[in-house]
Amino acid sequence: MNELPQDPRPPAPRPNGAGTGAGDGAGVTASVVPGRAALEPERYLKPSGRVSAAAAPHSGAAPAEGVANPVFTCRDVSVFYGDKQALKSVSLDVGRRQVLAMIGPSGCGKSTFLRCLNRMNDTIAGARVTGSIKLDAQDIHDDNLDVVQLRARIGMVFQKPNPFPAMSIYDNVVAGLKLTGTKANRSVRDDLVEECLTKAGLWREVYDRLRQPGGALSGGQQQRLCIARSLAIRPRVLLMDEPCSALDPTSTRVIEQTMAELVKEVTIVIVTHNMQQAQRVSDQCAFFLAEQNQPGYIVEHGPTEAMFEHPQDPRTSDYVNGRFG
Ligand code: ADP
Repeated sequence: MNELPQDPRPPAPRPNGAGTGAGDGAGVTASVVPGRAALEPERYLKPSGRVSAAAAPHSGAAPAEGVANPVFTCRDVSVFYGDKQALKSVSLDVGRRQVLAMIGPSGCGKSTFLRCLNRMNDTIAGARVTGSIKLDAQDIHDDNLDVVQLRARIGMVFQKPNPFPAMSIYDNVVAGLKLTGTKANRSVRDDLVEECLTKAGLWREVYDRLRQPGGALSGGQQQRLCIARSLAIRPRVLLMDEPCSALDPTSTRVIEQTMAELVKEVTIVIVTHNMQQAQRVSDQCAFFLAEQNQPGYIVEHGPTEAMFEHPQDPRTSDYVNGRFG
């Protein structure tokens, strides 16, 4: 049997208040985490805890320092779609069991960068990625790396919930096991379905109708079903591309509370256009920008509170305060 991989490392301390909201009727329990005041500055390589590319915004020469013991270490990542460069020299670390929010106006390369992390850009004809991306110190572009195994370590949730609509809720959750060649008997699958639906904050709402089709759920429930499906393959990282943009505020809140629970075990990278959401859910934040017809780049990144309250770059300040974008 192909063992479901576990991350053996102890969880990193949580630096911010994500998850301090109360649990809700969906069975999400509030996590008690240290406040931002408990942030240990030595965990960040820069005393300010922030990194700004203001001095060299287009060169990509901005220092790439980030968090200690990162899950992802990305250096000088550029992406091309055919002749067009979409992303230029992005360097960024993703902290273990933290939430990284990527913010910025449409078209500045956030989704493109997200897709680099699980090599989804490989599936786009004409797409080319340069630079270095390491997951737990392993080069994800290494010729010897099995992309299927890579993607098994990295779950992905998209903007539009995409459960298999005719497939039952139960079968949706375990669907990923087949893809990764993981064999599990009925009892193991039953336990896994309950565990993943619980972690996704959906179990209490669906435990008595697991054989009903996934497509019969509401939009917010479908998105949580997709999260449960991603969790079933025991990912180290969950990539979320605007997961709440199609949801109502209540469903959004439930997903955010679910994220606060999940991040105790899984690293989350989220693209969001919702500044309040970025502030609520993330520990770290990266602000992307692209001038007209130019590739996107990172203006500034660092701890979320610092980015929102004391941005180093005036463009960051303008963006997080809603003055453009
Ligand atoms: P964001 O997520 O910030 O809105 P994207 O990563 O979607 O930005 O897009 C960045 C740039 O790359 C845009 O100019 C977009 O048109 C282009 N782009 C994105 N996906 C593709 C693709 N599959 N083929 C060609 N160009 C693309």
